[in-house]
Amino acid sequence: MNIHPILKEIASLFDARGRQVYLVGGMVRDLFLGKKAQDWDLATDAAPEEVGIIFRESKTRGRVIPTGIKHGTVTVHYKSHSFEVTTFRTETGYSDGRRPDRVSYAASIEEDLARRDFTMNAIALRLPGGEITDPFGGAADIKRRLIRCVGNPFERFSEDGLRPLRAVRFAAQLGFDLDEITLEAIPLSLWVSALVSAERIRDELDKILAAEIPSRAFRPMEDTGLLKLILPELAVCRGLEQKGFHRFDVLDHSLLACDYAARERFSREVKLAALLHDLGKVPAVKFDAGGIPTFYRHEAESARLARGILTRLRYPNAFVDSVCHLISEHMFHYEENWSDAAVRRFIVRAGPECLEDLYRLRRADSYASAAREPPEDFLLPLAERVDRIFAERNALSLKSLAVSGRDLIAAGVKPGKTLGIILRELLETVLEDPELNTREKLLEIAGNINKRYL
Ligand code: ATP
Ligand code: MG
Repeated sequence: MNIHPILKEIASLFDARGRQVYLVGGMVRDLFLGKKAQDWDLATDAAPEEVGIIFRESKTRGRVIPTGIKHGTVTVHYKSHSFEVTTFRTETGYSDGRRPDRVSYAASIEEDLARRDFTMNAIALRLPGGEITDPFGGAADIKRRLIRCVGNPFERFSEDGLRPLRAVRFAAQLGFDLDEITLEAIPLSLWVSALVSAERIRDELDKILAAEIPSRAFRPMEDTGLLKLILPELAVCRGLEQKGFHRFDVLDHSLLACDYAARERFSREVKLAALLHDLGKVPAVKFDAGGIPTFYRHEAESARLARGILTRLRYPNAFVDSVCHLISEHMFHYEENWSDAAVRRFIVRAGPECLEDLYRLRRADSYASAAREPPEDFLLPLAERVDRIFAERNALSLKSLAVSGRDLIAAGVKPGKTLGIILRELLETVLEDPELNTREKLLEIAGNINKRYL
């Protein structure tokens, strides 16, 4: 194995004080997978204070920040690298299903590995020599592409309710299978998973969405009850058939849409919008006399439900707004006979900066209706007309009107609500007929509208 020269140098700093240091965690797993490893996690028998001394007293002084000192973790910045160093530890208690009641330092790397979640994450590589400590058969599991708990899965999941979610996240991220006993323990520990903080769940969801095929996590989540716990609005989409539209029920359709968005490397916003775009079909469904479902105005309901989910998971407000906007606008139906004014109204409604994402969402939606690639020229006629409209440089926003709010006030319009209404009516007028976007014309029209409000 190729060990980074800086890691060898770090090992000699520890060695000089008679301390051991190991590479642990995801980095070792990735080395076994032959993948380029990302962040460095180190484990040592030196206490955090001593880690501080080791780096501060080295020739190139490193910065040591007590980021997780309660758990024995410090972050070190050393020669333009940063990494976490954690003192060997054991954990006991976990009476809240989230965090250990007590963390104590452990004497050996074996004890430290025993507190880790999965066998593939419980392998240590001694620095600088590269000797492997693998007490739970992690390397063999990596070879079999298997996610298996260290020790008794039910006990491990009861200690920390995030672990089941980490298990399915790794399944998607690495394309591994879940060991049967590990999988069977998830439904038994849902009550512990219910205690996990929204932020930790959100971070796992983000990692699932970053995977090549996110449904590889969502499917075992459904089978084990995790989906119902974390995204109940999505779980209830199972079994809502869409006869007359396509062959998938709403849940399979949503997962296909999300997988497509992930495969095409669309943004996180688009991936979430793809996953959640049809939630509203559940409250909106009505059946006609022939038993065919209709989902009139479901997109508004979907946006409302998505907002609930994303807010609950503590995504930032602006992010929630953009996902929900995409969802609520996803049902446009372009036809060639749309007038230019209709295309302009569409642009303004969708927001010029959101158009590309909206097209992407529609591609994902289209793919997920038949599990078939959308045609090469999908939405192209609309996109071309939109481009033509942009090229004409006509007014598409309040800012580009030939009169401003200030002009209108000077002409006698009362500031406040009336002013807002008039400006919007003026925009609608010039969307309909761009020729009217002159100061003279708009002041005249504004005067007429204003009379209605006097
Ligand atoms: P990635 O960085 O890709 O998310 P990772 O395996 O490095 O994967 P981290 O969250 O960085 O995951 O954690 C580093 C190591 O700490 C893990 O490999 C595992 O050994 C241990 N670990 C992390 N979270 C837990 C947990 N909730 N329970 C038990 N051990 C954990
Ligand atoms: Mg890591």
